Amino acid sequence: MSLPRQPFDFFTHGELPTPAMAPTEVAEVLTTLGITGELSALGSQQDQNFLVTGPAGAFGVLKLANPAFPEADTLAQDAAADRVAAAYPQLRLAQVLRRDGAAVRTVVETSQGQLVARMLNFLPGGTFTRTRWLSPAVASRMGRIAAQVSLSLDGFDHRGLERRLQWDLRTAGAVVELLAPSISDLGEREQVRAAATAAWAALSQVSAELPVQAGHFDLTDDNLIRGADGLPDAVIDFGDVSTSWRVAELAVTLSGLLHHTGPVIETMLAAVRGFQELRPLTEAEATALWPLVVLRGAVLVASGRQQAELDADNAYARAALDREWRIFVAATSLPMPVMTAIIRSGLGLATSLAPATGLRVVAEPPKLIDLGVTADATNDGAWLRPGLAARTAASWEFVAAPWGVPRLSESAVLRPTAPATVPTSITMWAHSPVTLLAPWSGAVQLAEGLLMLPGPTHTLVLHGLSPDSLVGGSADTVAAGTPLGTLTGRGEIQLLAAGIEAVPLLVPADQAPGWLALTADPACLLGIPATMPTASPSVLLQERDSHVAEVQEHYYLDPPQIERGWRTHLVDTGARAYLDMVNNVTSVGHAHPRITAAVSAQLARLNTNSRFHYAALPKFAEALAATLPDQLDQVFLVNSGSEATDLAIRLAMAATGRRDIIALAEAYHGWTYASDAVSTSVADNPNALATRPDWVHTVEAPNSYRGRWRDAEAWRYGPQAAERIHELAASGHAPAGFIAESISGNAGGIVLPDGYLGEVYAAVREVGGVAIADEVQVGYGRLGDWFWGFQQQGVVPDIVAVAKSMGNGHPLGAVITTRAVAQSYRAGGYFFSSTGGSPVSATVGLTVLDIIRDEGLQANARVVGAQLRAGLMALADRHDCVGTVHGHGLYLGLELVTDRAARTPDAPLTRDLCERLRQLGVIMQPTGDHGNVLKIKPPLVVSSAEADYFVTMVDQALVELR
Ligand code: PMP
Repeated sequence: MSLPRQPFDFFTHGELPTPAMAPTEVAEVLTTLGITGELSALGSQQDQNFLVTGPAGAFGVLKLANPAFPEADTLAQDAAADRVAAAYPQLRLAQVLRRDGAAVRTVVETSQGQLVARMLNFLPGGTFTRTRWLSPAVASRMGRIAAQVSLSLDGFDHRGLERRLQWDLRTAGAVVELLAPSISDLGEREQVRAAATAAWAALSQVSAELPVQAGHFDLTDDNLIRGADGLPDAVIDFGDVSTSWRVAELAVTLSGLLHHTGPVIETMLAAVRGFQELRPLTEAEATALWPLVVLRGAVLVASGRQQAELDADNAYARAALDREWRIFVAATSLPMPVMTAIIRSGLGLATSLAPATGLRVVAEPPKLIDLGVTADATNDGAWLRPGLAARTAASWEFVAAPWGVPRLSESAVLRPTAPATVPTSITMWAHSPVTLLAPWSGAVQLAEGLLMLPGPTHTLVLHGLSPDSLVGGSADTVAAGTPLGTLTGRGEIQLLAAGIEAVPLLVPADQAPGWLALTADPACLLGIPATMPTASPSVLLQERDSHVAEVQEHYYLDPPQIERGWRTHLVDTGARAYLDMVNNVTSVGHAHPRITAAVSAQLARLNTNSRFHYAALPKFAEALAATLPDQLDQVFLVNSGSEATDLAIRLAMAATGRRDIIALAEAYHGWTYASDAVSTSVADNPNALATRPDWVHTVEAPNSYRGRWRDAEAWRYGPQAAERIHELAASGHAPAGFIAESISGNAGGIVLPDGYLGEVYAAVREVGGVAIADEVQVGYGRLGDWFWGFQQQGVVPDIVAVAKSMGNGHPLGAVITTRAVAQSYRAGGYFFSSTGGSPVSATVGLTVLDIIRDEGLQANARVVGAQLRAGLMALADRHDCVGTVHGHGLYLGLELVTDRAARTPDAPLTRDLCERLRQLGVIMQPTGDHGNVLKIKPPLVVSSAEADYFVTMVDQALVELR
């Protein structure tokens, strides 16, 4: 049987079993191609593929094309791959191997008939199919690659493109009809048929306007390969190269995202935007996209079932069945118009429904109340006490809460998915009966608990009217302006687009652009102001990028916009609450009412510079000194950690008359000149080690987990540092001082080896220098067993620098030292920091200390910290990637590795874990010079249940990320 000459046509050809050549025959083909190597079978739905391995590992893929395809088809595929490779040299492509300039390919006679055999290069890295969770960054890169392939194949013309495959979405409706009988479950078959029919109908509205071109049309998670940074950078399998709608390239990529876990909308939009940046969609393409995804899902299910039927031995096809079904289910889990509106809104295209025009439905407008994220009514944690909406509404006779504004009253904490917070209705509370009138004439429909009145452009839906007050039975016709019924208590008014039957009253924020597009704001029917559109977090981010210097980085690629905090919770503009596990600045919890009250009262009375004489400053200085050993009784008040460490360094220089300073490697101490000079972390500044001024000398980071001396050998760091200090002194660089965090906070909460600070402080003092403890991160009760980090080491420094937690977010820092050191500053003039210790700052500082004492927060850090540590340690039993748990109390670090024995840092996993935790409702960030440690330092008020939630989410995410 010779190769066909006519283009392949799925509709006339029908069944397409994969070639099934025996191993010996395949080996012969390999020899014919002039290649030697070991063969191992790879899966394929239509061809027969083998990995070819030589002494140096896998080097190629032997591809035996299905004999149903003419030779021109494989030539077109190879030409397409070459074309993309030429256009985007940074992409790796599965191209046909060349020997002496000639392609390694041939037409061979086989037991399966004549077929094309060729060798492609092998691309290591693996596909994304088996990874349960895909990060938005991966999805975005997939969309970008789809755009690059689409751009490079634009204008590509080849005889081998004339084929008609079942994957051409231009014939998807017919393909589903043809193959649906292979779906044995009748319910599922009907579901697939109905979805395909609806998608086809939606598509028909715009299909004439869709551009057509050549494409890969199979750029799924199975055909994109992982690069060194964890993101896709390679494309394989050009087997479906053909001509179709241009936007189908993206639709196919999106379909490949849908069987993974994680929030579908976020992942999908990341891919759409990745595509859009290089290859903007037309209006028609944006409208066609989701119907195409649904059709792709339907074709996948139907084709998969058929393939499994006729090719019972094809394990590859069988394994795909479940995945294909999940894709279809995800594609149809929200109504198509909702997904289309979400896509359009994500691309900045118009989605809104025209407002309804009709008569007022009430004689007197209601009072409008705010239940949103920034509403005062939700302050002081009121949003977490049940009944907020009713409590807020209770003060007026007739009250309404707006349409489309996320309600904090509907939020919830410790939830792995976003709660439904966005109303698609206006909620009304009538404390005495209010008659609602028909805004237009029409036939009333009564359904369970609600009344519907279709009008010329919209359908009015009223929930909660008193049943005995409603206009007569179903299908009654009412005249505009006549009563529909009476509201007593709580009710809802909704305006649906004509033809839409129902929209949930509350939807999650990511779905809101989709559902809201099917409804209109009913405000005009009530005579109240309409909801004004607000800038989305991403638009605000663009504004930030245009005015805030880019080097001032922000957390996350696509950060939630956080506008409220309460205790350990941070709330975004969609009213989603996140557990804040990273915030050591707000030590006593976000928005602590005692601080609000004390600061408000102080601001209302007096705030001025610290050269005036007022009570708050001496009281705070005294309280602060009382937390420290007796000799440390002289306090300088400043505004930040950088100022505190800078001043500490200058005090050391003043006290000794020297200028050399010794610092630890991997440290961060601030951004001012002197504090930056001693900052050696390459995570904060990749050039740090090469660019320190000559007066800064570093000693090795005493990291007992991954440093030079590990575990039982870690005691060596102390003597080594002491020796270095003596050497420096001997060489004429006797140091003014030694500065270090008392626990290496920025390195990941790494506890110093026992006795380390004792040895180093002794050495530095022996040569006439002073010891500076940077307690900006680890001090102030966080360690639980000790108020100050240096107490863990049993030492007393000469100078202590502190900030962050002492102000609970208010700019406040301090240096505390001995009288002798403080006096030495005089030589350089007097000290003045205008707002350091201002009446408000000193009040904040005092209040924070009071709260830590009154609420027993140091003890909480000890108890919950121990529980958290134990929970994280237990994760090591289940996940090989957990290297170790650093830290103490509520300053912990979870270190992630690719190989536990070699302790190889895993930064990509750590980065992905933080992204996934955000989706699961937890704020967490990586730290350390290798970016592979979770910095766990929540507000000290964190509860045992919250600690458990964190551990559970890390556990879940690590399962999903593997
Ligand atoms: N020292 C340490 C140990 C720090 O972690 C930081 C801030 N990350 C600073 C000093 C500087 O503090 P600030 O950002 O308040 O200037």
